[in-house]
Amino acid sequence: MSINQPVVLVVDDDRIILRILKKILESNGYIVHCAETCDEGARKLDEIKPHFLISDWELPDGTGIDLIRWARNIKTPHYLYVMMLTGHSGHESTAEAFDAGADDFVSKPIENVELLARLRSGLRVLDLESRLSDLANKDPLTDLNTRRIFNEIVQKEYRRSRRYVSPLSCVMFDIDFFKKINDTHGHPAGDAVLKEVARTLKEMVRESDISCRYGGEEFCVFLANTNHEQAVAWAERIRVAISEIRVQADSETIQITSSFGVAQMLAEMEDESELIDLADQCLLRAKNSGRNCVINFNQLRESFATGEGEHTQLFLSAVASDSMTTIFGPLTSDSNIEDITEFFLQFRISSAPVVDENGSLVGIVSEKDLMSNVVKKNAHQIPIHEIMRTNVVTYDISTPLIEIWEFLNRVTIRSVIIVKDNKPVGFIGRSSILRWFSNSLWKQGFRSEELSVAMQSNLQHTASSIATEAEKLKEELLQKGQEISLGTYIGRTSRMQELTNDLLSASSRINQQSMAIELSEDTQ
Ligand code: GH3
Ligand code: MG
Ligand code: MG
Ligand code: MG
Repeated sequence: MSINQPVVLVVDDDRIILRILKKILESNGYIVHCAETCDEGARKLDEIKPHFLISDWELPDGTGIDLIRWARNIKTPHYLYVMMLTGHSGHESTAEAFDAGADDFVSKPIENVELLARLRSGLRVLDLESRLSDLANKDPLTDLNTRRIFNEIVQKEYRRSRRYVSPLSCVMFDIDFFKKINDTHGHPAGDAVLKEVARTLKEMVRESDISCRYGGEEFCVFLANTNHEQAVAWAERIRVAISEIRVQADSETIQITSSFGVAQMLAEMEDESELIDLADQCLLRAKNSGRNCVINFNQLRESFATGEGEHTQLFLSAVASDSMTTIFGPLTSDSNIEDITEFFLQFRISSAPVVDENGSLVGIVSEKDLMSNVVKKNAHQIPIHEIMRTNVVTYDISTPLIEIWEFLNRVTIRSVIIVKDNKPVGFIGRSSILRWFSNSLWKQGFRSEELSVAMQSNLQHTASSIATEAEKLKEELLQKGQEISLGTYIGRTSRMQELTNDLLSASSRINQQSMAIELSEDTQ
């Protein structure tokens, strides 16, 4: 794909030069923007995303070299061809410009013919770069992004949306019974259908959205600044548009439908892959619900309630409150980073829900959120409501445990918050359910002697690890005294604390186990 109208940004503090260059370049088919300082140049580079940067060396607020270095570090949709145009000359200056990232070096005074020839040479480089990047990043059949480049871009978009607390949604869709089209009409007809679907998709996304061919006949779209309801509405529109596609194959007209999964970024997600995973789960549900429909995250959650497959009696009688870990806190939305940091360190927790003055849940904050904010100016005073994440997955305290189990089983989200009258009272993660399950087995006497032996040896192992850590710390203290590094000291100490916590949590099991034994002795 060659560039029809190359865009040039010229940065020079000499207005006469700017005027001359604008005239020459515009009369040769270039679109020209001008800036007079480094600062203005940087801003325009970001805004306009030109193909060429032509920069002067000396500028009022810095040098062209600074500007080039800055330009080389920002993400651009295509290569930026950089030309240094300066009164500076000599081997040293030339070398410095090239090392900073310049592609060409032209000395003033301007020679029109030579400048234009050098720009044409730059165009050849830009053209080659664009072809290479298309080869690497575009799916040849549909001209959509490949999954590889998509993953790269959505990671950035996910982080950006987190940072600016703006909603982000993911839509996954897949053509229904596509195999049949290939089987009935042949592979080329299938290809033609795929092209039409891709064309429809391209027509329906905005510039800020990111789409790709995710797999054979599966597509994935990230909708920036779009909440769950808006994403569902968008998915509905494209579902209808795809059902209206007609592809002619021999004497027959091919019609297709497709199934959609829609999810919004949630507070408890770690990264973009969890968002994709959730949309994928919704898509799976759409396929299982008769296809040609849109399933969103809330429907996915509700549909788990019906349950499928066989579950043990153990699970069927339990509710959320049986398995949840009680919440420390919670934090109020007017506390600041300093308070939360102290709180997390004191109780050794890594995340906590945030409530308003009525005690109602408004968000969640984690160590990770704190980490990314501690480097900011006056970090300790930043109020929690500015850094917390909203949009949390909650379940009522009376929800059957099986429902939460099914949910956590299918999605990558690690935990959900348990609420009572919309007030957070606990959370359930995979480990909470596993611990509950294990404890129930003890209670019900399902555990055999051998397992109990295994547990004993496990406890012994933990205890001896503490002893080893303590011994090492003692040695180090003896040898180095006050010279001991703080890192070593804290490392060993907190390792011991973790191991001690393991022993403590096992104590409840031992307690239940001995109670179970007493009970069985009583009944005998
Ligand atoms: P479902 O409704 O469950 O999605 O059924 P399906 O038949 O669409 O799904 P399945 O995964 O069984 O089949 C997908 C088919 O897509 C199989 C594969 O041959 C075909 N396919 C994948 N990539 C291409 C392609 O580039 N061109 C063509 N023509 N077919 C493709
Ligand atoms: Mg100057
Ligand atoms: Mg399919
Ligand atoms: Mg598929």
